Amino acid sequence: MSCLFCKIIAGEIPAKTVFQDQYLLAIEDINPAAPLHLLLIPRKHIAHTLDLLPEDDLLIGHLFRVAAGLAKERGYDESGFRIVTNTNADAGQSVFHIHFHLIGGRHLLWPPG
Ligand code: 5GP
Ligand code: ZN
Repeated sequence: MSCLFCKIIAGEIPAKTVFQDQYLLAIEDINPAAPLHLLLIPRKHIAHTLDLLPEDDLLIGHLFRVAAGLAKERGYDESGFRIVTNTNADAGQSVFHIHFHLIGGRHLLWPPG
């Protein structure tokens, strides 16, 4: 298995896991871009958004609800936060196992760079 996030899910590479259930893991990003920077990673290996199937719809909805819950739990509900996923080169995707960044704790620029 060569996928970094599959290895983290399998426990072969350590990560700071802040939440997990049967569908996904939420871990702290190793190189945080903001005071809050978690990665929500489905246990199922899906490369990116282009590979999502209709059967993944519930998983992704669940992931967004969990992400918002984690942001609220940490006190970022009033100030706000961003949930973002990168697809392929122009978006800067570097790990090809779908994941959603949960970022907050500072004013985020829009549009992104
Ligand atoms: P992408 O660039 O694919 O959207 O996001 C990949 C993210 O994974 C980056 O924010 C990067 O800092 C993070 N990352 C890369 N390797 C590791 C790792 O080994 N552990 C953790 N926790 N995060 C990682
Ligand atoms: Zn994977």
